[in-house]
Amino acid sequence: MMISYDHIVIGVGSMGSAACYHLARRGRSVLGLEQFTIPHELGSHAGETRIIRKAYFEHPDYIPLLIRAYENWQELTERSGKQLYHKTGLFYAAPKGHELINSIRRSAELYNIPLESGVPTKFSLPTGYESLFEPDAGYVEPENTIRALVHHAIDLGAEIHEREQVLGWNGGGQPGYVTVRTNIAEYRCKKLIVTAGAWSAKMIPGIDKHLRVTRQVLAWLKPAEPEQFTKEKFPCWLIATENDKGAYYGFPIIPSHLGALKFAYHYPGSDTEADSVNRKVVIEDTENLLDFARKFLPPASGEIESTKVCLYSNSPDENFVIDNLAGMEDQVCVAWGFSGHGFKFVPVVGEILADLAMYGKTSLPIEFLNAGRFSA
Ligand SMILES: Cc1cc2nc3c(=O)[nH]c(=O)nc-3n(C[C@H](O)[C@H](O)[C@H](O)COP(=O)(O)OP(=O)(O)OC[C@H]3O[C@@H](n4cnc5c(N)ncnc54)[C@H](O)[C@@H]3O)c2cc1C
Repeated sequence: MMISYDHIVIGVGSMGSAACYHLARRGRSVLGLEQFTIPHELGSHAGETRIIRKAYFEHPDYIPLLIRAYENWQELTERSGKQLYHKTGLFYAAPKGHELINSIRRSAELYNIPLESGVPTKFSLPTGYESLFEPDAGYVEPENTIRALVHHAIDLGAEIHEREQVLGWNGGGQPGYVTVRTNIAEYRCKKLIVTAGAWSAKMIPGIDKHLRVTRQVLAWLKPAEPEQFTKEKFPCWLIATENDKGAYYGFPIIPSHLGALKFAYHYPGSDTEADSVNRKVVIEDTENLLDFARKFLPPASGEIESTKVCLYSNSPDENFVIDNLAGMEDQVCVAWGFSGHGFKFVPVVGEILADLAMYGKTSLPIEFLNAGRFSA
């Protein structure tokens, strides 16, 4: 006899761990299937820190979801007794008139998000740059968040299998059920949730032409005086320059990684595939980060201490897709295309997916994230 669950979640990474937690919390029987360990370094959630901010320059429609996410982060902190969100503030800068600063201001005005002015002393901004400071922003801890969500999900009755890869699924078998086939067994559920990150095109029919997986390089730089960059003294930051399309960003030194500051460039990197990405970092990969540090943050521009390759899974418009699967609305819901900015939303995406899995709809405002926008 095949084991049956209310829900199966394919991929227990960022979004999948949150879906398992919310479903288990609501008393549903749930099986989470993860092909690697939980967490792991091969997808989109490695690297110790992720920025969380509310004055969303990408699209103000994300802000109601962020307001909910902030509440969820607080609730998760209380439940786990672990500080997963660290309020450090976020320093933004860009050449005067740049869309980054204009959009931040617009979003902040629409939703009354406090912004301040002033430039932290360690930065050296070229003339003609303007800046803002978002005091309620900071960073969250991706690996520890996933650990906490899975821990609580199991406590609440979820079954989570690590190192079990889903090979395929189909909804055409026994009426009312989706069958999921892994390298170990077959299971069935009433509604499937697919949160497979950079592997989503293998698990969701019809999205291969829309999902673009890119290689992203992170680097940790050693400042001469690390004690000047602790989270009590130095904020998260995000800076657009006149010559680059994306934005550079970074973090203070965190207690679990003393002596080095994390730097990265937020813009889709080279196209790749999740299973064959080149994880070896060469000098050319980090030249832009070092040049940026020398110019904008000279006291941090020491040598590189370590590097990592991570994956963005980009949708065509770099906005997320969270929806029921067209044609199988009652049986499958999907969340993909988090495009390098999804982690701050993890707990609210878990809540939305639990709603879609249980009721087929959610009261949270996600219409702008519908999958149909790419079907024309
Ligand atoms: C370098 C970098 C920096 C970032 N910075 C930020 C930031 O500052 N702020 C922010 O908010 N966001 C940031 N993000 C984005 C954020 O981390 C991602 O949007 C988020 O992690 C995506 O979550 P996911 O669940 O889609 O993918 P993942 O967390 O990778 O989870 C997908 C999971 O599915 C599993 N899986 C796939 N296929 C199968 C299968 N067949 N069987 C079983 N398991 C399977 C995978 O192994 C994986 O564990 C960043 C991302 C990167 C790469």
